[in-house]
Amino acid sequence: GKGAAMVTAVAYRLAEHSREIAQTLSEFRLTTEQLLDVKKRMKTEIQNGLSKSTQDSATVKMLPTFVNSTPDGSEHGDFLALDLGGTNFRVLLVKIRSGKRRTVEMHNKIYAIPLEVMQGTGEELFDHIVQCISDFLDYMGMKNARLPLGFTFSFPCRQTSLDAGILVTWTKGFKATDCEGEDVVGLLREAIKRREEFDLDVVAIVNDTVGTMMTCAYEEPTCEIGLIAGTGSNACYMEEMRNIEMIEGDEGRMCVNMEWGAFGDNGCLDDIRTEYDRAVDDLSLNPGKQRYEKMCSGMYLGEIVRNILIDMTKRGFLFRGQISETLKTRGIFETKFLSQIESDMILSGSANCGTNSLLNVAITRVFIVMQVCGVVSHRAGQICGAGMAAVVDKIRENRGLDHLDITVGVDGTLYKLHPHFSGVMIQTVKELAPQCNVNFLLSEDGSGKGAALITAVGCRLRQELNN
Ligand code: BGC
Ligand code: MG
Repeated sequence: GKGAAMVTAVAYRLAEHSREIAQTLSEFRLTTEQLLDVKKRMKTEIQNGLSKSTQDSATVKMLPTFVNSTPDGSEHGDFLALDLGGTNFRVLLVKIRSGKRRTVEMHNKIYAIPLEVMQGTGEELFDHIVQCISDFLDYMGMKNARLPLGFTFSFPCRQTSLDAGILVTWTKGFKATDCEGEDVVGLLREAIKRREEFDLDVVAIVNDTVGTMMTCAYEEPTCEIGLIAGTGSNACYMEEMRNIEMIEGDEGRMCVNMEWGAFGDNGCLDDIRTEYDRAVDDLSLNPGKQRYEKMCSGMYLGEIVRNILIDMTKRGFLFRGQISETLKTRGIFETKFLSQIESDMILSGSANCGTNSLLNVAITRVFIVMQVCGVVSHRAGQICGAGMAAVVDKIRENRGLDHLDITVGVDGTLYKLHPHFSGVMIQTVKELAPQCNVNFLLSEDGSGKGAALITAVGCRLRQELNN
């Protein structure tokens, strides 16, 4: 009858839609071969960043950090730490005790950085930071002590020493004027002076990856790599001095801040980028930059999902073709939500979907949204793993080993909150770097503790120099 014909027509349309949806989603599923290729390209870019002749134009900048060793347990003292560039801005007091009973005690306070400060003038940004430090020192009752300070500044900096770093470029959500090309430690010191209220001894500027590595290495000496999978994405590792051509000396090792987020900025990942990746990039604060980061970090995954959903809605597969105000809102899907949506899928997925009829469009719609989130975060884990596979293999080759055991210190909201990202990433490293046994260790508060540990080393070195 007529009813049956209608059902058939609807079923036919749904089948056609699901074929097209599957087609779109399949662009995000990378084969092992493709991933091996990503790993190989990362290796090439690492080499370009390390070599003198190619470093100027290199996309993966491989920035020296002037951190020459991981902690040895002798670090001690009271330190102030700042953590800028992740999900929160924080000021911390870190008390490190050495000896038989090593302890690290931390006090911290989170401060908001309003969008207009993040994207205003550099002076406003640094005045705001110093205002927060002032509040924290009042809160701790420590305004009169001239504490040594470690500044975790999670952006690419060209360092010339432990306490000097020129901001190469802002990334993520920051865009304050008059900072790029400037020494960030200088900007902080000037702002402290302007306030004429207290004095601090800025000893070190630290990338969050380096702080994360150092924190883990304090507990686990085999930790020689740091990884952040959070708002942004980046890694650091202990490289042989002889391979770092920009720095004099061939002895020992130095930690290199890879700034791998910029991988692909020369077009070398264009074959795996989709139209949705390009849309996210075009609408970002830094078009054309940080292309790898935009495929695998928390600040952008939700945006990729949103762009796919908009496209699917336009094509009539979702929301009856109506693009809602919510869907039009940039930044609406935070990592938190993405993680929740996929966690819900585990809990309720099988229960809800098996028994429903083909015509239960509401369930189908929920299922499509979940699938979209699933492929985007899965690909993020895969390509982050491919990058890490390149790093561990590089270290293994540096040391002329057939087999390498190594630990990676990790931090970041995507790694910690997302139900699948870490698993996919770890599995990918296993597959792509079979000669390495890689242990991932969650770093508890790497940005704070790590900055303090590095500051402690900096203070010790300075004393040795003066004696
Ligand atoms: C920055 C890196 C940082 C990473 C993780 C990137 O956008 O360029 O310096 O380590 O985010 O926070
Ligand atoms: Mg952080």
